[in-house]
Amino acid sequence: MIKYCKKCVMPDTKPNLSFDGEGVCNACRNYENRKEIDWDQREKELQEVLRRYRSKDGSYWDCIIPVSGGKDSTYQVLKMLEHDMTPLCVTSTTCHLTEIGRKNIENLKNLGVDHISFSPNPVLRKKLNKIGLTQVGDISWPEHIGIFTIPIRVAVNYKVPLIIWGENSQNEYGGPAASVDNHILDRSWLEEFGGLLGLRVSDLEGFDGIIKKDLIPYYYPTDEDLKNVGVTGLFLGYFLPWDGYGNALISQANGFQTWGKTIEGSAVDYENLDNYQVGIHDYFKFLKFGFGRASDLVSMHVRRGRMTRKEALKIVKKHDGRFPTTYLDKPISEILEPLDITVEEFTKICDQFTNKKIFHRDENGNLLKDRFGNLTKVNYDNE
Ligand SMILES: [Zn+2]
Repeated sequence: MIKYCKKCVMPDTKPNLSFDGEGVCNACRNYENRKEIDWDQREKELQEVLRRYRSKDGSYWDCIIPVSGGKDSTYQVLKMLEHDMTPLCVTSTTCHLTEIGRKNIENLKNLGVDHISFSPNPVLRKKLNKIGLTQVGDISWPEHIGIFTIPIRVAVNYKVPLIIWGENSQNEYGGPAASVDNHILDRSWLEEFGGLLGLRVSDLEGFDGIIKKDLIPYYYPTDEDLKNVGVTGLFLGYFLPWDGYGNALISQANGFQTWGKTIEGSAVDYENLDNYQVGIHDYFKFLKFGFGRASDLVSMHVRRGRMTRKEALKIVKKHDGRFPTTYLDKPISEILEPLDITVEEFTKICDQFTNKKIFHRDENGNLLKDRFGNLTKVNYDNE
């Protein structure tokens, strides 16, 4: 049986999430610990860091900001502009960019910044989507690697040492690298928490005709390259009281567009707008661990006192882990078509990655599904 945090709705099946003796998860405890933080002091620390990296004569960019065009990166850009920084923004394009995602990137550029968009070879990327999905149950595997490696490559190649990331996911979602003092993203953070799922980039050489050269954008720069430029990645969430919803509101006031209705499998309309494959990515999280994006979102709201745990549980039951028939209104067949996967094949892959212990099955042990293909968890909250 899945156990749930007593304060939020996160399950103990989530990798890296730990529970204390009172049954409270470390993401909730991290949030409570934030109350002790002197944010004025942190703001001073931020100003001091930025002062050190700001170009003295204004002849060069002051920092790199990895940007998707989403609510968090729009907020990061706004904050850096407020702090008189001249950023070079870098987008590692998503695997299947949406129309609204494209508009939000344009909006971000129009905040008044220089911008580089990098798209890894799409033919290879489709192969990697398929390998990620069938081998480790993560269609977004290449995208997650690219998000972390490509801005660092740009930092090395353009010789801009400071990289401004958003929140340390280990803080907001819980994990061993969550610590109020943990504010640096480096190679070891990436290798442990960057979502590689035990599949290393080097493992792909020789797979399906892939050669080393195909994988250039996915390899992290060498330690020597990083050291030569002095690359330092900072989490802005260490310096500012990070809140995704607050970031969305501020971004919206600066031209960022939301979906305008609840996104499939989610509980809100303001995030994960830039890639049609996100629905599939999140669905696999549900199949493996019994929680979806709605659980993450409402847990963040519960911690911030914006809804009760009881209300959150209702939302989770309604939205979490629905079979991704569509995402941002695009039918799944059209999302899978470029990868040469049929919906029938996809369903089989889903079943392979489903943790059978946490879903209802018939007397023969087969997964029970409704006519839309939805599974039901054996317990949603100690029921
Ligand atoms: Zn919790």
